[in-house]
Amino acid sequence: MAGEGRSGVGAGEAAGIEGAEDVAGPTGIAVAPPGRPPDNGVVVQATTASSNAIGAARHAHLQPNAFAIEKGNIVMTRGEPSPVLARTLYVVATPIGNLRDITLRALDVLEQADIIAAEDTRVTTTLTSHYGITARLASLHAHNERQRADEVIAWLAAGKRVALVTDAGTPAISDPGAALVRAVVDAGYAVVPIPGPSAVIAAMSASGLAAPQWLFCGFLPATASARARQIERLRTFGCALVFYEAPHRIAATLDALAASLGAERQVVIARELTKRFETIHRCALGDAAEWLAADTNRKRGEFVLIVEPAAQTPPAETKSHDALLAALLAELPLAQSVRIAVAATALPKNRVYERALALKKASAR
Ligand code: SAM
Repeated sequence: MAGEGRSGVGAGEAAGIEGAEDVAGPTGIAVAPPGRPPDNGVVVQATTASSNAIGAARHAHLQPNAFAIEKGNIVMTRGEPSPVLARTLYVVATPIGNLRDITLRALDVLEQADIIAAEDTRVTTTLTSHYGITARLASLHAHNERQRADEVIAWLAAGKRVALVTDAGTPAISDPGAALVRAVVDAGYAVVPIPGPSAVIAAMSASGLAAPQWLFCGFLPATASARARQIERLRTFGCALVFYEAPHRIAATLDALAASLGAERQVVIARELTKRFETIHRCALGDAAEWLAADTNRKRGEFVLIVEPAAQTPPAETKSHDALLAALLAELPLAQSVRIAVAATALPKNRVYERALALKKASAR
């Protein structure tokens, strides 16, 4: 089993690890001072002059234990088991299908937490029992989150270490968690993210869409009219659009996206990521319904949809030179066509280049 052979860090050891500037709690357990996140060896990214200094200082601080690895100006811990601090809420990402996608830090935290607040305790039990974790579970879901927040704050006040998980992925991403985190922060306790799986990131990373910007839209509204209005609002956005969708609405959602955004726009359908029937399919929105209908299994499971950015309307003066550019492209390679068009029109080179690419793409269809 993946969890076997891992050595947890007891509270006493945790308090002694360099990098954890904690204070002793009532039970001798390391605690985060209220209102201040603990320094427990999180990644430091030093990009500015002042943050470089912080990076260097932290590196020096960690050096005696050979605890840090430095690459360029990034200092990170080597991966020793993390101290888990009392009076701290840990927001822990869990697998979206494949149980082995849990991070070592997530296991450290779940093993040492006094209480795990879980969206559905039965789902989380599958994970905890797989890794031999025996912490107490308490349910925290969309319907009891605010009331439960008071209890979580009382646990933190009593010096407990609390972890928050949802059924899959990262809490507060189309999941409960944000209200609890806000309440805990407002009450002056530390909140620490334990990053890991999230369907949106997994889908984007494997989509092959070179979209420098993307907008995470979560779930679209359930009713057809509200859904159509929402998609219409997004139609001209110049970034990729990312949606979550459930199996019983996937066909209707793809139809609605094609109707509003246009049959030509490319979509990546990422289904059952990290699971047995993982599928990542790319097609034009206009072809998506047919692809989905070709095999009843394709409608099953959980989905992330990524729609490519809307083509940006070129400025009028660029468009007026399309005929020249198209004629050049018909005879010459792209770079040469762009050079001649720039010389002839005095338009900025990058704008002519983008337009040339768009014309070439359109003529290839
Ligand atoms: N918090 C989660 C996260 O970080 O991804 C999302 C929770 S949301 C309630 C559940 C939705 O996430 C699903 O309906 C689906 O759209 C998407 N999702 C979750 N797991 C997935 C998977 N393995 N493959 C594709 N989509 C997934």
